[in-house]
Parts: sequence; structure tokens; C-alpha cells
Amino acid sequence: MKLDLQHNLKKYKRPFLIAGPCSVESEEQMMQVAQDLSELQPALIRGGIWKPRTRPNSFEGIGAIGLPWLVNAGKEVGVPVTTEVANAIHVEAALKAGVDVLWIGARTAVNPFAVQEIADAVQGTDITVMIKNPINPDLMLWIGAFERFQKAGINDLIAIHRGFSVYKHPRYRNVPNWEIPIGLTEEMPEIPLICDPSHISGRRDGLFPIAQKAMDLNFAGLMIETHNNPDKAWSDAQQQITPNQLKELLDQLVLRKADI
Ligand code: PEP
Ligand code: MN
Repeated sequence: MKLDLQHNLKKYKRPFLIAGPCSVESEEQMMQVAQDLSELQPALIRGGIWKPRTRPNSFEGIGAIGLPWLVNAGKEVGVPVTTEVANAIHVEAALKAGVDVLWIGARTAVNPFAVQEIADAVQGTDITVMIKNPINPDLMLWIGAFERFQKAGINDLIAIHRGFSVYKHPRYRNVPNWEIPIGLTEEMPEIPLICDPSHISGRRDGLFPIAQKAMDLNFAGLMIETHNNPDKAWSDAQQQITPNQLKELLDQLVLRKADI
């Protein structure tokens, strides 16, 4: 299922919705979340296969065995799927399994060698690539990542704002520094900008104001981690919400008249 990015951005208007679990855990979990999400008609279903965890001894992803679970769940509900890739081996496995869209995580976006390796690995394909902001507030590093893909001939690109790492903030897991995604849009207006309130907030009760702020700032969409049983999630349990809670959140968003 190729994601026709421009068509989808128009079709779904705002928010262009990306939802699904932090991590793919099992075939049943992935199918359940996809089915529960399908009513919301997300543009993309996400699921992490390889998880870049801050410390060892946490769940580091189910690995390539989970790729068909993700792909089949998407096929079942007719929605393209996306996963995070951090090196050329991930790219090859994801493309072979039929993953429709790739994303680069915040811990990979900081490393030009890794970004270049991924850009080289997708050169010659027509895949859509989403790039999260680097974990540190460095706009030029984020811009540089997009340029590496553009030089590789990949032009279906999406930016995901997931906040910036900070030591012990009372409110945010990652501070939003809204001026940085706004700066990206000023420099690269052709790249659609999506907000990831899940990783900015770190807590499910903090998602709504961040999502609303993104809409107020004219972001094109939202990526929100969604799990069938968030408290039991194998990663990022505190910030995930059920598909029903996601529906409530979306229903409460105030969009400008022109977007409705
Ligand atoms: C994720 O999306 O689950 C993830 C690991 O995100 P980030 O790279 O933003 O930390
Ligand atoms: Mn996560």
C-alpha cells in the first residue's frame, strides 16, 4: 500500500492522524489495536519493531518477527503502516515485509552517519520517510537530515515534532520548544509537520493541550501512541491511550473553521 502523501494530506485534512502502539508486542495486540482504530480512519498505523531504549534491560523491541504482524494488521483494516528504522538492515527488512512508510527516531536523527546510511538504503525507492526532531534542540541537524533524503531523491518527507530532552521537567517528558518546529517550517515549507504529543507529554493526561496547541499552530497532523491495554504496554505505558480515549481527544480538538 503506497502512501500517496499529497493525496492523503488533502483527503484527511487535519489532523492527519498517525496512531498505534509504541511497540508491536504480539500478533493479537497489533490486530486488536488496528481494528479498534479503524473507526477513526487514521492515515497511518504505527508500531515500533526495534526500540531504541535509553537503558538496557528494558524491552528493546520484538524485532523482525513482528513485521508481518504490523503489515497484516494494516492490510486487515486497509490502512498503511509505519515503523522506526535506525540502520540499513532495518530498512531492508521493513521494505521486504511491506511496511509502507519509515520513520527515523529522535535518537537516530542526531547522528548524520546513521541518517546518511538510511538515506542511502532507500535511494531509488518511492517510500515516504518521516523524520523526528533530534533529541537535542538543534534545528540545523533536523534540516540536515531532510537534506540527506532530498539528495537521495526522496521527496515524500514528513517532520515529526516530539520535543527535546531536558533534565527533570515538572510538566514535560520532552520540552516542546515550539519555535524549533516553527523554524523548520519557515526553512522548509514544503515539508508537512506533525506533532507527537505522546513523547512530549510522557503522560496521558497531558496529551490534549499539546495536541490543541499543535492545531492552533497549524500543524498538519498528530502522531499519538495508542494501545488496547495501555497500563500493560511493554514500553511507554504511562503515555499511551486506548483508541476510545483517542477518539474523545480528537472530538475535543478545536479546529479553525477553514479546516473543517
Ligand atoms: C517512539 O515513537 O516510540 C519513539 C521511540 O520515539 P522517539 O524517537 O521520539 O523517542
Ligand atoms: Mn514510544
